[in-house]
Amino acid sequence: MLVVQKYGGTSVGDLERIENVANRVAKAREEGKDLVVVVSAMSGETNKLIGYAEHFTKNPAKKEMDMLLSSGERVTAALLSIALQAKGYDAVAMTGRQAGIVTDDLHTYARIEKIDPTAMQNAIKEGKIVIVAGFQGINKDGSVTTLGRGGSDLSAVALAGALNADQCEIYSDVDGIYTTDPRIEPKAKKLDVISYDEMLELSSLGAKVLQNRSVELAKKLKVKLYAKSSFSDNEGTLITEESENMEEVLVSGVVLDKNQARVTLRGVSDRPGIAAEIFSKLADENINVDMIIQNVGTDGATNLGFTVPQSEIDNAKKVMEEFDHDIEGMDYDENVCKVSVVGVGMKSHSGVAAKAFSALAANNINIQMISTSEIKVSMIIDEKYGELAIRTLHEAYELDK
Ligand code: ADP
Ligand code: ASP
Ligand code: MG
Repeated sequence: MLVVQKYGGTSVGDLERIENVANRVAKAREEGKDLVVVVSAMSGETNKLIGYAEHFTKNPAKKEMDMLLSSGERVTAALLSIALQAKGYDAVAMTGRQAGIVTDDLHTYARIEKIDPTAMQNAIKEGKIVIVAGFQGINKDGSVTTLGRGGSDLSAVALAGALNADQCEIYSDVDGIYTTDPRIEPKAKKLDVISYDEMLELSSLGAKVLQNRSVELAKKLKVKLYAKSSFSDNEGTLITEESENMEEVLVSGVVLDKNQARVTLRGVSDRPGIAAEIFSKLADENINVDMIIQNVGTDGATNLGFTVPQSEIDNAKKVMEEFDHDIEGMDYDENVCKVSVVGVGMKSHSGVAAKAFSALAANNINIQMISTSEIKVSMIIDEKYGELAIRTLHEAYELDK
């Protein structure tokens, strides 16, 4: 049986924890499993490195950032391999390049294009435990690239796919996927199983327990994915294809995304092509626009609102200045957040959204923007009510039951 395990930043946060991971890997080995182990940088390390670069400039070259950031994962991979060797196990540490991971050129947010698993397979055949530095690959010119924040999850899923592994286990400090972030709502319940689509919504809407791109890839490659804790032997959550009885559950989870900023454009010239111009320009600047709201225009003008990640708000302001002549007024609000309700059961049940609106209204929480899809309802509200809204929605859908 071939298993890909991934240990996140908290799980390898200090030497004692790396030792703990080594013991867990050794145990799986004793059970007869072939293992490829992907590791993150020690917790806080990636942020520390970003801070170092920002000491010199707010806008460091992305290629150099990849050189810098990829080092965090290499340290952990080497240390885990050394720890295993010290226990008498045959292990080998590999960088993304050595593991055969080739990406495109989009530095700091690269996409995996192909994986040549030969080196890993040869090492496994020789009886070695393969340790791979997560979050990284190389582009066709041989420069190191990284896969976006939380990208070690993606490394693990991609390797599991390329190696045709029996399963992929993502270890963090929570023992599975909960109905909401247990740090916000201690009454949150662990789910035994969740569909790829629901998990993808939860991750994309802000639940950082799994990186959204990793879930997307797991769905595409049909990787059997588990979320587990490196601090316990609890069962964990299986992320898998949707089954019929999943639809009986109306709502599987609620999620908070604090990384949101709202842009409102007043008196936008109501002419064909204006939305295309605005959003193409934002796309050209790689600004990820999330919710968009436009009203029916009156007197040749309309109002247009949208949200972007908080880190992009200054860039968005710069882009909007170019549209000065087309827009009467603009305002920006960084103190907003997005709360979302997710569940495949919404496909076949009505009234789910109304329940969310009523629950927030009962707490006097004003909804500024709404967007829905087949399996989710998202609402933009004042940031200071974010956690209250999550607890309110959790209770409204009886997720603690
Ligand atoms: P790692 O550093 O191992 O990659 P992360 O910090 O990225 O781990 O993810 C684990 C964290 O995700 C947990 O500590 C938890 O607070 C948070 N989290 C957010 N939403 C959920 C959820 N629905 N279920 C479980 N954990 C969640
Ligand atoms: N170390 C990287 C980050 O902090 C990647 C990861 O941990 O998955 O984002
Ligand atoms: Mg993570």
